[in-house]
Amino acid sequence: MTKVTLITGDGIGPEIADATRRCVDATGAAIEWDVQLAGVDVMETAGTPLPEATLESVKANGIALKAPITTPVGTGFRSVNVHLRQLFNLYACVRPCKSYKGVRSKYDNIDLVVVRENTEDLYAGIEYEKGSKEVLELIDWLNAHSSRTIGPNAGISVKPISVEGTDRIVSFAFEYARKMGRKKVTSVHKANIMKFTDGLWLEVSREVAKRYPDIEFEDRIVDNMCMQLVQKPELYDVLVMPNLYGDILSDLCAGLVGGLGMSPGANIGEKGAIFEATHGSAPKYKGLNKVNPVALILSGVLMLRHLEMTDEADRLEHAIAAVIAEGKSVTYDMKPDRNDPTAVGTQEMADAIIAHIKAGR
Ligand code: NAD
Repeated sequence: MTKVTLITGDGIGPEIADATRRCVDATGAAIEWDVQLAGVDVMETAGTPLPEATLESVKANGIALKAPITTPVGTGFRSVNVHLRQLFNLYACVRPCKSYKGVRSKYDNIDLVVVRENTEDLYAGIEYEKGSKEVLELIDWLNAHSSRTIGPNAGISVKPISVEGTDRIVSFAFEYARKMGRKKVTSVHKANIMKFTDGLWLEVSREVAKRYPDIEFEDRIVDNMCMQLVQKPELYDVLVMPNLYGDILSDLCAGLVGGLGMSPGANIGEKGAIFEATHGSAPKYKGLNKVNPVALILSGVLMLRHLEMTDEADRLEHAIAAVIAEGKSVTYDMKPDRNDPTAVGTQEMADAIIAHIKAGR
């Protein structure tokens, strides 16, 4: 049995976690769940949204399936999601975007994977507030060392991109392509403008590509990449990019295949992997048995593939695809009219998926 931490989250988290657990179990996967709490609901009793027991469980098991967690605004608590990523150094964010028959979308032939670097770039959290002592010192230094002048009323965010960080994520993208039988990796950048950060990214990408002669390699400037994804998404396979472009393009790609309800994700590092839906905790739907569980169930598929439980992953994915294609036992957001009275609840959609798995259809 493989032990997996199941973090049930808050808001709609516990409902979709339960639906996902039941679907994964129906495949017969040899998984022992270690159920742990995190989020606003546990804060009152534990005094923290991320209890020590949850952290210890992720540390011990190395694999977690995580339902969404609310980031309360203005309470001083940092995002549990960001904290987990930093703590376990989950440097790769993987977001597959795939068309499923029956999902309303402008495209029907997309099968892309966005691999986003998770630790560097403008999201490294190195920022200096306008007017602060640090920013004024930094501006003085920059004005003395460049031909451009920055005025005293600027705030500054720093964009670190390193050889090691780039090598690690681009290698990850190639390894992922190999493991998943994919044919091409596209490195996305803005090297024509930011020569010492994105230029470095491109140079290292090209070096890494030489180690994988069996996988096609190309690069795209990020603005052109956006246009290409809208016009010819079928030309692309695995896309690897720095943190900021990855944040934006993974939502763009989710939009191509029907939105956040269809968008699973994984955060992977050397010490572990956390699988989660791209959407948040949608607190207004909490406890209503209404929302779509598919993004978290598809994250379960990614987890099964990561654990090399390929047969179980295939059966679960086929069952999800079949239920969506039938269009009968689906939640309100997948119906042509959101007020369609035939829409089913979260658990009933999971039941339909389980019935397909059991029938071996
Ligand atoms: P959200 O994704 O929770 O919800 C936005 C809207 O999307 C919802 O009102 C709903 O209409 C729709 N939606 C989301 N998930 C759905 C589903 N499964 N089925 C059907 N419709 C769905 O985004 P938000 O309102 O900006 O964020 C709510 C909270 O979630 C915030 O505190 C945010 O910080 C947090 N969040 C957590 C994660 C995470 O845990 N990884 C990710 C994003 C946001």
